[in-house]
Amino acid sequence: MSELTYQRVLLKLSGEALAGSRSLGIDMNSIDAFCQDLAEVVGMGLEVALVIGGGNIFRGVSSSAAGMDRASADYMGMLATVINGLALQDSLEKQGLTTRLMTAIRMQEVAEPYIRRRAIRHLEKKRVVICAAGTGNPYFTTDTAASLRAMELKAQALMKATRVPGVYDTNPEDNPNARLYTRLSYLDVLQQGLKVMDSAAISLCMDNNMPIVVFNLLERHNIMRVACGENVGTVVHG
Ligand code: UDP
Repeated sequence: MSELTYQRVLLKLSGEALAGSRSLGIDMNSIDAFCQDLAEVVGMGLEVALVIGGGNIFRGVSSSAAGMDRASADYMGMLATVINGLALQDSLEKQGLTTRLMTAIRMQEVAEPYIRRRAIRHLEKKRVVICAAGTGNPYFTTDTAASLRAMELKAQALMKATRVPGVYDTNPEDNPNARLYTRLSYLDVLQQGLKVMDSAAISLCMDNNMPIVVFNLLERHNIMRVACGENVGTVVHG
């Protein structure tokens, strides 16, 4: 069996990834397949913190464009990530993993409040930590929450799971000749406006030299391949 390259990673899962082939909502079959893959690497000893998005349920920026108060819409988006977090926790526990759901907005009947030192302790005990409710602040995204948690929890890499194989020069869904990048610098991403994560999230990773690996979640065993240092997807680094 291959050896792990990393000891601790932060895995960012967008809400879309939970929707499977649908555009909205939660597809438990897709979540279960992902959780099986995750159980493989946790079984090998990888410490995993997850940051979960909410775009499959609600996105603040779209509703504010339609006239809703932006901060209220963003709080709705953050609550959507908690719904996803509960679905993910249920599926991970079916795989026999021990998990903790932690939220950046307190709701103790549902989940633990996010406390950095406590989250690190859970990781040391090989519990999968699911971080929900983003940063707890409106006007941010869960990509920025993922960068922040990666730094706070001392992850060695930020793994960004997507529905495409990595970062392309143009949208592969519109252009069949789109070129896949294997390596990129943070500045390439910012200057070329490549769709990896939003600029606040990229800047935070750049300032703290946190490598980002963008890979296809739908391809089975990819989490294991990334965790073992295989060349999968696109690596963004300093
Ligand atoms: N959100 C927020 N602050 C945060 C994280 C998220 O206000 O720190 C809100 C924002 O409205 C966002 C929504 O939660 O649109 C869902 O998160 P995101 O769009 O990042 O989810 P993803 O695209 O990863 O599914």
